[in-house]
Amino acid sequence: MTDKMVWFLSKDELRKMQYFAHKADFISLRFCGALVVVFQTMMFLFKTICDGDSKRSMLYRGLYLFLIIVTLISIGLLSKFRHNQKNIALFYLVVKGYVFLAELWAVGITCLGCQHGNDTSAFAYTVLACVAVIPIQPVVVTAITVFCTVLLNVAFLVMPGINFHSGMMIQTVSTCLIAILVSVSCFTMRVKRNRLIFARDEHLKEIESLNARLKGEAEKDCLTGLYNRRFLTQHIDRKLELGDAPSAVLMMDIDYFKSINDRYGHQNGDECLRVIAEEVKKCIEQRDGYAVRYGGEEFLIFFESITKEELRDLAEELRARVEKLKIELSTHTHISCTVSVGYSSAAKGLLYSEIINEADRNLYRAKENGRNRVCGV
Ligand code: GH3
Ligand code: MG
Ligand code: MG
Repeated sequence: MTDKMVWFLSKDELRKMQYFAHKADFISLRFCGALVVVFQTMMFLFKTICDGDSKRSMLYRGLYLFLIIVTLISIGLLSKFRHNQKNIALFYLVVKGYVFLAELWAVGITCLGCQHGNDTSAFAYTVLACVAVIPIQPVVVTAITVFCTVLLNVAFLVMPGINFHSGMMIQTVSTCLIAILVSVSCFTMRVKRNRLIFARDEHLKEIESLNARLKGEAEKDCLTGLYNRRFLTQHIDRKLELGDAPSAVLMMDIDYFKSINDRYGHQNGDECLRVIAEEVKKCIEQRDGYAVRYGGEEFLIFFESITKEELRDLAEELRARVEKLKIELSTHTHISCTVSVGYSSAAKGLLYSEIINEADRNLYRAKENGRNRVCGV
């Protein structure tokens, strides 16, 4: 498919073409439209100055004006429709309409020209420029160009003042055939280019989302979904670079967790870790805290901004919430467990390592004082 000429497009290909309309097609259409408006305005002024008010000059000026207005309206509509993916069918409808009107214009200008000679070049350059520059399917180009070629030849026959001869028909019919070939070849190149750009953009999107996922996964602990030690280290490094210090750290350790593993098995132990981690998440979700699985059954939570009182209340809330949990095991039995919590609320200027050490020391004090309790300064 990639190397064949493109005559028709599948729905999927059309979607890709339409996707592309926003990007490159509009820019080239706007540029060509501006050129058309400038040249037609110059021609209009030239006719007004040099040919005065003869009927022929009026007809020419009318046609120039017609093309200027049609071009300006089309460019206006295209810029309106190109931003919205839903309007993209309208975008291409305007493009087709413009080609049709431009070719009709060429029919009119050529007829006027042939009343004083037999020059059909206006039809040739207009039709060829349209099909080379404007992105429409060859099948549409064929329909429009064949129609306009027939119309032009009928006009040659019936319009007064035209000295019709077979050479004019041969010129216009060959223009029509060349236009169809040019259209197929230009459209094929466009489609190939669009396919490449579309594939590249899709790849980039895939890579970006993969990167985001990998980054997320690299920072998370796979058992609990909490942040891991790697995240903590990187976060601390970032904060140190910025010269920031945390406002508080809280360390929590499950009491007698080894005996839970020993009694109910490691898989049930894992379930306890998951359930307790969920409780930690719920507990800090309203605050600007980060929960990290620091070690096996140890959790570290740090906050960017929290008062000492809030921290103490939060540590106590966490302890109480875990105590109330009834964790369902694979054997459908429910168990409870407790946690000990140590916290440290930093005075400004305290380093991360110092504040973590202090929270850790408080955790051990909580353990020594009998577990299932909170200790801090
Ligand atoms: P303490 O109250 O003093 O903290 O006692 P403890 O039993 O909780 O502490 P200890 O350090 O003796 O035991 C921690 C246990 O945690 C030992 C280890 O098998 C278990 N553990 C660590 N990581 C995991 C894990 O990922 N899954 C499970 N199921 N157990 C884990
Ligand atoms: Mg423990
Ligand atoms: Mg421990």
